[in-house]
Amino acid sequence: MDLKAHIRKVPDFPKPGILFYDISTLLMHPAAWRHTVEALGAAIRPHEPDLLVGIESRGFLTAAPLALHLGLGFIMVRKKGKLPGATTSYTYDLEYGTDTLEIQADAVKPGQRVVVLDDLLATGGTMRATVDLLRKQDAKVSGVGCVIELSFLGGRKLLDVPVASLVSYD
Ligand code: IMP
Repeated sequence: MDLKAHIRKVPDFPKPGILFYDISTLLMHPAAWRHTVEALGAAIRPHEPDLLVGIESRGFLTAAPLALHLGLGFIMVRKKGKLPGATTSYTYDLEYGTDTLEIQADAVKPGQRVVVLDDLLATGGTMRATVDLLRKQDAKVSGVGCVIELSFLGGRKLLDVPVASLVSYD
């Protein structure tokens, strides 16, 4: 299936000069979305995850159906202050300033194998921070996956685990 045909490119979003790759059109097409979830499942299954992790917010859309498809639990990584109860947090540098990601402190048991999912890998900073957060909780990150990879930004160089992507733009 030609997934690129279902991904919309929106110019000048969220800022002038930025081309935004939008999975909304893919989500609206059940056959293409089912194919996406199944193909991501086939790509990450070799990493033998115990749990899947989704990064707020489009990573939830990717990881949650995939977790059901593979019969695995699903964990949310969210921006600071959104998760109830005790959390573990990780602050990382952005181009201007910092950002903080959180996970519930009891979400992952030490040594559990996890695979992290997002809709899109750009510079890799968000994925890298999520891997670092999970390692703070002694999880074993066995791989990461995304629907779209912007290869020209070289994000996978920031990651020391296998990266699965279904569609890549050079
Ligand atoms: P990175 O940290 O530079 O790799 O950016 C990836 C994060 O930003 C992911 O959580 C994406 O959801 C989001 N993102 C960046 N660019 C786009 C885009 O063009 N379309 C959709 N999401 C994007």
